[in-house]
Amino acid sequence: VICVLAGGVGAAKLLRGFELLGLDEEVVAIVNTGDDDEFYGLHVSPDLDSVTYALAGLSNDELGWGVRDESYRAIEMLSRLGDDAWFTLGDRDLGTHLYRTRRLLEGAHLSEVTDEIRLAHGIGTSIVPMSDTPVRTMVRATTTRDSADEMTLRFQEYFVKHRHQPWVRSVGYEGAEGAHVPERAILALQQARLVVIAPSNPVLSIGPLLAIKEIRTTLIERRDAVVAVSPLIGDRALKGPADANLHALFHESTSATVASFYLDFCRQMLIDPADAPAANAIRALGVEVHTTPTIMQSDDDKITLARLLAAHQ
Ligand code: GDP
Repeated sequence: VICVLAGGVGAAKLLRGFELLGLDEEVVAIVNTGDDDEFYGLHVSPDLDSVTYALAGLSNDELGWGVRDESYRAIEMLSRLGDDAWFTLGDRDLGTHLYRTRRLLEGAHLSEVTDEIRLAHGIGTSIVPMSDTPVRTMVRATTTRDSADEMTLRFQEYFVKHRHQPWVRSVGYEGAEGAHVPERAILALQQARLVVIAPSNPVLSIGPLLAIKEIRTTLIERRDAVVAVSPLIGDRALKGPADANLHALFHESTSATVASFYLDFCRQMLIDPADAPAANAIRALGVEVHTTPTIMQSDDDKITLARLLAAHQ
């Protein structure tokens, strides 16, 4: 088993690499659900869907989220009816949320529904939500770095409505304490020959998984098998606020900041050549470093990185 701790798009690209390598049946992705929320009466699971759509070959690479060949007629109608429809969902994408919501209302667990959706798409990779009960990432932030107008935002309010512009003061993970981690996830973590922490936002995408004690404790036990791929390229996020979040919370944003955030359970880290200056600081923390190109644009990039990880000792 290769177990991959996953956020959204960065993780999805790596999982696609394993799939293209033909290792999909061996891979179990444990996916962040801290970004989940209810919109228009529907249960939306952005990271589960990013991973699923990427593995189904359906992702919208131009937008970076959602499904390709998409239209937005339903949301247009919602706006016309007076709904403040700030969270855009495409028409094809809505089909997923309709299905998921109905199954949850029927009493199915999120992990069961996720598996049904994956099977319907013919995906071999196991996709497992980190929790069957709600865990919600809550962001406490101020409008700017210097203002004192602290507000508590649900993840999607911070990320989409406020375009991740507010200055993050702290992050909480509501429900993490009583989270019900699917057994499949814990078994995969325990049995994996390799545990990969995907290149995802450490605080907002991997943080929710780490906030769940059962996951964190198991990871610590498996430290020798854990390899993290840094989500930073030359100290910067390729997209999104990962660098700003690290800076706000830890006063610096380098791959060494990421390594120290993962320190308890991370034996090795892959960093991009652009981050070679951070290598010594990472080694000083007691984490082994390997430098290799980590930007996954083409399928070849994804395969190369996945192959390197799969061959890792
Ligand atoms: P989400 O899609 O918004 O959930 O975002 P992710 O959780 O995937 O995290 C975004 C982070 O992943 C950013 O810090 C990006 O720099 C990083 N990321 C995205 N794609 C890649 C990639 O191809 N290589 C590397 N090394 N990092 C990436």
